[in-house]
Amino acid sequence: MTQATMRRKLIAGNWKMNGSVAANAVLLDGIRAGANGLAADLAVCVPAPYLAQAQSALSGSSIAWGAQDLSLHEAGAYTGEVSGAMLRDFACQFVIVGHSERRSLLGETDVMVAGKTLRALSFGLTPIVCVGETLEEREAGQTEQVVSAQLGAVLADLKEPGKIVVAYEPVWAIGTGKTATPEMAQQVHAHLRALLLKADPVAGAGVRLLYGGSMKPDNARELLAMADIDGGLIGGASLKAEDFLAIARSA
Ligand code: PEP
Repeated sequence: MTQATMRRKLIAGNWKMNGSVAANAVLLDGIRAGANGLAADLAVCVPAPYLAQAQSALSGSSIAWGAQDLSLHEAGAYTGEVSGAMLRDFACQFVIVGHSERRSLLGETDVMVAGKTLRALSFGLTPIVCVGETLEEREAGQTEQVVSAQLGAVLADLKEPGKIVVAYEPVWAIGTGKTATPEMAQQVHAHLRALLLKADPVAGAGVRLLYGGSMKPDNARELLAMADIDGGLIGGASLKAEDFLAIARSA
């Protein structure tokens, strides 16, 4: 069995700042109802106020849940922040770290993303570390340089690289309807894989590399067929159970 076949695909939803108790109930029930017998792992990363609802709707199912961010700090006077310990209290398995919206809108730096990754691991959470270039950077031929710096900052401090998930999300493809071609995405994923293997030749082979950026039922199959694309981080299409499940079925 090759390393690629050993990596079980992961389809993770990023709900972003969407949802309501009523709408979530329909979405979570719909996902749960259709999740049996899938060949991929499923997870939903929900807004923090809805973690208890996700826990109650998904407990006892094969679907994991998680958050979209966590505090860099352990506890204390950080008004508005949510700690890793709090996420564990709601039995989260995953937490997204360094999403491009947080980097661009809220000023998260590579150093902060590296710190949050360590913080997540210290609480037994699996960080989904996001990296990706802007359109300007791609057009300037800087894609590999940008993602190397982003992932490199995280790997520099990491003792166990095998415990993270990495999501390659070209910023120009997020929420725009523009998707990287499978070949473009695979090229960056292969580069990320090489960095992971350099950090740890054994564990690096097992790290799941997700693609994110306008993944939809009609383009998921060809993206997920690429050697180093081990799943998807899904924004818009994770808000409809039918679409989210259709993506998972093509994995
Ligand atoms: C995301 O925000 O992580 C994402 C991939 O969004 P979308 O699928 O909507 O492009």
